Amino acid sequence: MPALGPLADEDEASWDATLRWHRKLYEGGWLGITWPTEYGGRGGTLLQEIICDQELDQAGSGVPFTGPGIWLLGPTLIQWGTDAQKRRHLRKVLSGAEIWCQGYSEPNAGSDLAALQTRAVEKDGHFIVNGSKIWTSLAHRAHWMFLLARTDSAAAKHSGISYILVDMKSPGIVISPLVQMTGARHFNQVFLEDVRVPVENLVGRKNQGWQVAMTTLAFERSNGQERIMMRRVQELARLATTLSRNGRSLWDDSAVRQQIGQFAAEAAAIRYTGFRQLTRQLKGLPPGPEGSMIKLSASELGLRIAAFATEMLGPFAQLERADRLAIDRGLWAQRILEARGPLIYSGTNEIQRNILGERVLGLPKG
Ligand SMILES: Cc1cc2nc3c(=O)[nH]c(=O)nc-3n(C[C@H](O)[C@H](O)[C@H](O)COP(=O)(O)OP(=O)(O)OC[C@H]3O[C@@H](n4cnc5c(N)ncnc54)[C@H](O)[C@@H]3O)c2cc1C
Repeated sequence: MPALGPLADEDEASWDATLRWHRKLYEGGWLGITWPTEYGGRGGTLLQEIICDQELDQAGSGVPFTGPGIWLLGPTLIQWGTDAQKRRHLRKVLSGAEIWCQGYSEPNAGSDLAALQTRAVEKDGHFIVNGSKIWTSLAHRAHWMFLLARTDSAAAKHSGISYILVDMKSPGIVISPLVQMTGARHFNQVFLEDVRVPVENLVGRKNQGWQVAMTTLAFERSNGQERIMMRRVQELARLATTLSRNGRSLWDDSAVRQQIGQFAAEAAAIRYTGFRQLTRQLKGLPPGPEGSMIKLSASELGLRIAAFATEMLGPFAQLERADRLAIDRGLWAQRILEARGPLIYSGTNEIQRNILGERVLGLPKG
């Protein structure tokens, strides 16, 4: 089974296994269930897709993370792309022949995304792109990037932005690795200098990329965390049964069981919030606050579960997977280091709190 999850790309063998699993799922018809059949999907319903994802999770595998192609770019292109763009990319995204990365964040534009400074100037049928993107997951593996660039500097902040597809082999692109505290290289800074992009690669209308970007962000916030947390609790419970202290299984310690029970209750609440979100979707209603609630609570629960596993493991928590004494192949050492990422990506938790405070509780804007 390939190592799945956001950092499954960290070594070559793990990345290759993840790609193989991606292709196998595609060949079996288990990816893009709601996508139109003409682009390699099944033309199925959202409910069918959710059931399929749940079954994959139950089997301990999940849909592999090979970048934001299937998850973000595909659904955005289905909604906004031209026929030519759909024909050119969608089937390859689904099959894993094209790996994508997301060029949104910049050194001075993260939570305040509309502050982005990358510029695209139209000239002779091309955009000439200059700027820099940062924290770009998988840029070093990607064939393509979807990016946001300013195409009208005089326009108001959220106007004058365009959504553009860039071939990563274009001259003028330099990819610089950013190594994380896990030791893995998951993301990068990407420099773009006079990169020529055909105007046909514009998605949506010029200067109206913010609307397209918001479509992508809506898909980004429904990232399946509500399904993952229950499995995390099960893994933690299994860990408690395999560890012992002073000759006693940790599972026999009522304080340990109570804490795991508390996590299970929270994971169940997140799962049911996910079902409420699904009900809204099935009724064709616009997204409610559930996405922010799930994002906030699931990421914080993930961090607390990893911290508790670290406590249970004691000194063994420091052993990484190359160490022969590492328990669960050093999974928890990696988890505790990775666990802060989900508090930041897809809109930081402070931003989610702002959204909930303002839109749900009706608090005044800070
Ligand atoms: C694992 C991981 C993968 C990522 N992958 C990608 C990727 O592939 N492509 C991409 O484009 N980006 C990616 N990102 C970047 C991510 O989207 C940004 O880190 C995020 O949007 C926050 O932006 P920032 O880092 O500039 O922090 P800032 O926006 O500078 O925020 C710094 C701190 O200030 C707080 N803050 C900011 N504004 C407010 C406010 N209005 N109210 C209250 N608090 C506030 C934030 O919550 C945060 O704690 C990734 C990040 C991570 C961790």
